[in-house]
Amino acid sequence: MARYTGAVCRQCRREEKKLFLKGERCYSDKCAIAENNKEKRQGTPGQHGQSRKKQSEYGLQLRAKQRTRRYYGVLEGQFYHYFELAEKMQGKAGENLLQILESRLDNVVYRLGLASSRAQARQLVVHGHYTVNGKRVNIPSYRVKPGDTVALCDKSKALDSMKALVEANSARPIPMWLEYNKDALTAKVTRLANRDEIDLDVEEQLIVELYSK
Ligand code: SF4
Repeated sequence: MARYTGAVCRQCRREEKKLFLKGERCYSDKCAIAENNKEKRQGTPGQHGQSRKKQSEYGLQLRAKQRTRRYYGVLEGQFYHYFELAEKMQGKAGENLLQILESRLDNVVYRLGLASSRAQARQLVVHGHYTVNGKRVNIPSYRVKPGDTVALCDKSKALDSMKALVEANSARPIPMWLEYNKDALTAKVTRLANRDEIDLDVEEQLIVELYSK
């Protein structure tokens, strides 16, 4: 299963935005792009990082796509595959694309606060800590559907590390499309996410324009 293996914070520096890829660290002064970080490096990464200025239309579209891809930790091939699916669905392709990305199991686990970041959620899913409708699922890209129930496995609930993780992320707001039972650590998917419930700074229309060239 392919995944990005480069420097994680470099992705945020490239997008000049916090993408919250590292869990707790992202909320601290240790964050590579935090205002209070005295060791913060200026500019975007790479040889010409300091000198990058005005972006072309294509540049803006490319950045919108890359940022969205990085938020969800999806590689280019799979991202484009999602776009193709989104285009075939009814409604706006950009919104459909975000809805598909939101329905990935690793994202659902992250949204429920059962992992600190999507990257961690992905790893925990691979290690088999979650079930969907009572069956263990270890595929991060598994797409949940309305009516599905996502849960932390009984064995995993008993782990101290998992208890600490759940506690640390207990303040994360749960989206309305997930009916979460905090005591049982289970969630029912009541419907798919609406665009206005996806709190990410992404311009999906620019992605559609990019892929429609
Ligand atoms: Fe991005 Fe988090 Fe790294 Fe900050 S700590 S640069 S938000 S991944």
